[in-house]
Amino acid sequence: MTDLVIVGAGLFGLTVAQQAAENGYSVRIIDKRPHIGGNAYSYFDKETGIEIHQYGAHLFHTSNERVWEYVNRFTGFTNYVHHVYTTHNGEVYPLPVNLGTINQFFHAHYTPDEAKALIEKQAGEYANIEPKNLNEQGIKLVGKPLYEAFTKNYTAKQWQTDPSQLPASIIRRLPVRFTYDNRYFKDKYEGLPTDGYTAWFERMIDDPKIEVTLGLDFFDSSQPLSKSRVRGNVPIVYTGPIDRYFDYELGALQWRTVDFKEHRYDEVNHLGCPVMNYSDADVPYTRSIEFKNFNPEREKTAVQKKTIVWDEYSRFASKGDEPYYPVNTDQDKAMFAQYKAMERAEPMTVFGGRLGGYAYYDMHQTINSALVTWEKEVEPMLRK
Ligand code: FAD
Ligand code: UDP
Repeated sequence: MTDLVIVGAGLFGLTVAQQAAENGYSVRIIDKRPHIGGNAYSYFDKETGIEIHQYGAHLFHTSNERVWEYVNRFTGFTNYVHHVYTTHNGEVYPLPVNLGTINQFFHAHYTPDEAKALIEKQAGEYANIEPKNLNEQGIKLVGKPLYEAFTKNYTAKQWQTDPSQLPASIIRRLPVRFTYDNRYFKDKYEGLPTDGYTAWFERMIDDPKIEVTLGLDFFDSSQPLSKSRVRGNVPIVYTGPIDRYFDYELGALQWRTVDFKEHRYDEVNHLGCPVMNYSDADVPYTRSIEFKNFNPEREKTAVQKKTIVWDEYSRFASKGDEPYYPVNTDQDKAMFAQYKAMERAEPMTVFGGRLGGYAYYDMHQTINSALVTWEKEVEPMLRK
């Protein structure tokens, strides 16, 4: 029927499909959504022509040479460099925390060394510990006053979980700089796909050996590529939630999801930047995204007197919601390890991606993981 069935047309599934087809295998991809690209999917708004990232702002960045070379086979990248600002107590500050943020916050003109010494002092007892969770890591990085101002309430809105229960790695995503450099990412390469995300993804699977069927749920046993019909007969790459695959036998892993509220303005620019965070508790959403500011090179959309802003609200996902961010408390980690052990009884299924791996992967990490999984697990399975 086919050499490989892939569940999920997100970046993990598309990368494995591309590698399989390039190596001569036939592939069937299914996705329950009506489009490819998973959470990185985007579309062009009919009224304004602005590219909208349907599941939230997606900025591509990587330091991985192999991934950079790989993605450039399918798309060019603009020279977009991500910058974020945050509103706190009626004032706007640059992020991630840098010398500009520090000097504005303390109404000071510290040099880099002076600022470093101040932050270390303000980190108090946390300055010299090996942080075990987000709370400790956050205070160690920026000291208590800046943590209270820029991290504490934003994190509370984003995760609704005690920060001493959250992994330190979440806050280490953001650099802290003792210069005025406020580039959000620290990677070597950065940019947005020149013709939009979806054009990039379409090129990845532009191969007669790949067939994509949208609107099919792997767990709908009435359809021919369902789990009940395919499992044990054809090799599978599964990129949906791992707990769902095992029918929540050990319980449900915790996820955060997000809701968006759209605003349309007859203005050339509304926020004046691509992303504005809100670090105080009285604003119920975490951040606002003004999509046209991701693509200033698109002349037509850049100058027109229309713009689209989305406010992002975070909440716990229940069954039926889109799972976005793995919460990864110690309890979640223990449950995930038990699900991983159950994979051993599934020799014809390879699990991967953000949902299958219960991992907070950025796109470049998803692609890297897919390339490695292809080499180490999927191709050997197909050769058998
Ligand atoms: P997904 O994109 O989630 O794709 C999985 C696919 O599987 C989905 O299309 C789903 O419909 C399908 N599926 C699930 N269950 C079934 C089923 N039962 N039957 C059929 N199909 C099924 N990364 C960055 O690099 N930069 C960013 O700025 C960035 N911003 C992000 C912002 C948000 C709000 C989120 C949530 C993620 C962000 N990411 C970002 C991460 C990026 O989205 C992921 O790394 C990447 O999309 C993961 O790809 P994936 O294939 O693993 O999963
Ligand atoms: N964060 C924060 N204040 C901010 C921005 C981020 O406290 O203004 C913390 C928060 O805990 C968040 C984490 O840093 O979950 C990572 O932020 P990032 O912008 O990388 O999150 P993402 O874009 O993945 O939602």
